Amino acid sequence: MHRPIYLDNHATTPVDRRVVDAMLPYFYEHFGNPSSVNHQYGWEAEAAVKQVREVLATAINASPEEIIFTSGATEANNLAIKGVAEAYFAKGQHIITVVTEHNAVIDPCKYLETLGFEVTFLPVDKDGLINLIEFKKAIRSDTILVSIMAANNEIGVLQPLAEIGEICREHGIIFHSDAAQAIGKIPLDVQSMKIDLMSLTAHKVYGPKGIGALYVRRRNPRVKLTAQQHGGGHERGMRSGTLYTPQIVGFGKAVEIALAEQVVENQRLRQLQQSLWGVISQLEGIHLNGHPIQRLSGNLNISVEGVNGAALLLGLQSIVALSSGSACSSTSSKSSHVLLALGHSESLADASLRIGIGRFNTELEIDQVGQQIVETIESLRKYCI
Ligand SMILES: *Cc1c(COP(=O)(O)O)cnc(C)c1O
Repeated sequence: MHRPIYLDNHATTPVDRRVVDAMLPYFYEHFGNPSSVNHQYGWEAEAAVKQVREVLATAINASPEEIIFTSGATEANNLAIKGVAEAYFAKGQHIITVVTEHNAVIDPCKYLETLGFEVTFLPVDKDGLINLIEFKKAIRSDTILVSIMAANNEIGVLQPLAEIGEICREHGIIFHSDAAQAIGKIPLDVQSMKIDLMSLTAHKVYGPKGIGALYVRRRNPRVKLTAQQHGGGHERGMRSGTLYTPQIVGFGKAVEIALAEQVVENQRLRQLQQSLWGVISQLEGIHLNGHPIQRLSGNLNISVEGVNGAALLLGLQSIVALSSGSACSSTSSKSSHVLLALGHSESLADASLRIGIGRFNTELEIDQVGQQIVETIESLRKYCI
């Protein structure tokens, strides 16, 4: 059966076979509980988990004890934001974030508003970047947390983490960054970027779904977090629950591969991205959403004037699997809050395509998709659909 070409790599990625191969022994032979300290089965699992902590720590320039495993970036964001809010409640109740964040950051912040916290949602410019002067102005004496993502999941824009971190450190404010789309794809360094908390996930970087981590700074400064899930006291009391060894092993392998291949892969993805943009941008009335250069190499996000968003997606769906500007979450059909934040009208935001090119896409696929997108837009315009 013919299946559409997969270009939705910001939603999730296929698991790399090398990752699955690394995981398999941890289902069968080394199935022990990493918390079992009395026998070899436990030790084997514990050794594997320890090794992955080292891989992840090295990837972001942290120490292994600062890695707290979670079920993914959603849980890591919730633990970071609610955990800090609870732990620093007496110090202040103001949080700063950005309108273009993932819902896994926005929704915990909105929840905290219902408890009496105040949240500033910074706007972005037409390229999707925050303004650092506006950011500084938003800081108050009772600001306890800043949460700003590394790479945007819709428009791929990379926020200036090092500059943000510098400002947070000067003011003694904890800096959290959702790096779900960034890990393995761009260099991340929690020391030079002065990041105190960072959310990670495996499934955007060719690892398995259902596993992620939160980096929690232990020194200069030591970050306190109130656990959001209580139980056996795993992960230094911050996240109880038996560790999912096979998923953790897969996460480590995925990040290891991504780091080893990062430079070459980014070059290839950038070429595919540029050749696709070259084809599509020959049409009139096409907008590139997000900063033209300061973005993920595999990301293209375009808005198409003069066509209906639903018709555009329908016209393409048998050929290519991608997301539209109105399908930001599986359950709602609202216009993308990210595209609206760039200043687009609802109808233009709806007539948008998020294209995520990934490791397993070929040049041929990108050529075919480019042609199909152009033909579809031309025929929709011709018949005024
Ligand atoms: C995918 C994604 C998440 C959610 O991650 P899960 O591991 O699926 O919970 C959070 N933030 C961003 C930016 C994402 O792209």
